[in-house]
Amino acid sequence: MFTNSVAAGSGGLPELGNLSYPQDLHIHTIFSDQDSSVVPEQTPELVARIGHAKVMGISDHFEHFADTAYDIYVERMRSLNLLAGTEVDGAASVDFATNLAFDYYIYHCRDHAADYAGAERLLSTGRPVIIAHPNALQTNLDRVPDDCVVEINNRYIWRCDWHAYYRPHRSRFRFVISSDAHQPNWLSQSAARRAAAELGIRETNIRDVLTPV
Ligand SMILES: [Zn+2]
Ligand SMILES: [Zn+2]
Repeated sequence: MFTNSVAAGSGGLPELGNLSYPQDLHIHTIFSDQDSSVVPEQTPELVARIGHAKVMGISDHFEHFADTAYDIYVERMRSLNLLAGTEVDGAASVDFATNLAFDYYIYHCRDHAADYAGAERLLSTGRPVIIAHPNALQTNLDRVPDDCVVEINNRYIWRCDWHAYYRPHRSRFRFVISSDAHQPNWLSQSAARRAAAELGIRETNIRDVLTPV
């Protein structure tokens, strides 16, 4: 019988040591059931088992599950020691999203007045609001409230001149680095961490700014 002498992590699984990222808060699973990029093997259990980051949060698309599976979602993440976040697609979803407690929100903030106002309403919950891949949505960071956390996202960061886009905002915001994984092999942050290193950005640990639900 196989026995493992490596010290068990918080979930009872062996830790990956130097392979671990400090955190990853933008991960999708099968709860994002209208997103064709998510594969059926991308279960919360598999993400927890792979354990690629020390702090891990799932952020499935709010519009895909919140109305029917909110309780099941939060309970399942809790049982796996995963933070329960969600990715909110703009102002239209904000009122409902503020009525359901999540550990944090990841927010699509397009360059519309209504979306910037939506960010303010999400912040009024007192929970962290992470501005999702702003370079991919043409978010004008000058209009984003100071209290938001800005994401450097492995799926999209390389699609822009990151020095030109992010550098003017380095001192105004806190930042997190994310994979935006939809499949197990996307649980990676190499491009995003390269960009953050070039920009001299230090990642904020979400546990320093959140109160778990
Ligand atoms: Zn997104
Ligand atoms: Zn996403």
